[in-house]
Amino acid sequence: MMKVNYEGGCFCGAVRYAFKGGNIPCADCHCTMCRRTSGAPYVSWLVVPVNDFSYTRGVPKQLQSSADGTRFFCSDCGTHVACTNKTHPEIVDITLGSMDTPEAFTPTFSVFEDTRLPFVTTVSGKR
Ligand SMILES: [Zn+2]
Ligand SMILES: [Zn+2]
Repeated sequence: MMKVNYEGGCFCGAVRYAFKGGNIPCADCHCTMCRRTSGAPYVSWLVVPVNDFSYTRGVPKQLQSSADGTRFFCSDCGTHVACTNKTHPEIVDITLGSMDTPEAFTPTFSVFEDTRLPFVTTVSGKR
């Protein structure tokens, strides 16, 4: 498959990243940590092979948000751009909303639906 290059970054532009996209899964996460760290009802994530991803400008600040999870965000504007988990070091999760072209992807499944807010309809239409 031909690999396309995607780019994104934080609101202020201090942190920029790029990744090669082939078949990149995209999922909505309804967990309470995503909700609290983003301030949004849920967060859409891209699941990118860590070897296809790199920061092209700046160094994000890190927050260890759970025993295994670390979140990466701009220390100037606060935009969350990435999350890693020790249980699957081969991938890095990228926030869809920080991409330059978020419309290039569509979430196809959701996780942590047990903590989903009642007014949010899932990608499968569950309410
Ligand atoms: Zn920033
Ligand atoms: Zn989450």
